Amino acid sequence: MARARDALGRYFITDECEGCGLCVACAPNNVVPSWDGSHCTVVHQPANEREENDLHDAEMACPLACLGREDASVRRRGGSHRAMRPGEDHRRQP
Ligand code: SF4
Repeated sequence: MARARDALGRYFITDECEGCGLCVACAPNNVVPSWDGSHCTVVHQPANEREENDLHDAEMACPLACLGREDASVRRRGGSHRAMRPGEDHRRQP
């Protein structure tokens, strides 16, 4: 589930975040750590192509798959879910 404190927009960080900081290293203009380092928050949605690429890199780097983005095609239909990573569906199998 996305945290309520994320800036409104496509990218979000779920409650599974443990604050490792990889996403901050990838997208320092968009993601910041909490004061106690326990999690990170998307504070600015991407405003240009570079920030979009930085957040995409952060999404790929997150070891817990808790930084995600809405799939635009799903959003247009009124739904909302995080974009799947290659192979992610296999990790959800029992
Ligand atoms: S890379 Fe993932 S787990 Fe690490 S701080 Fe960012 S969102 Fe949290």
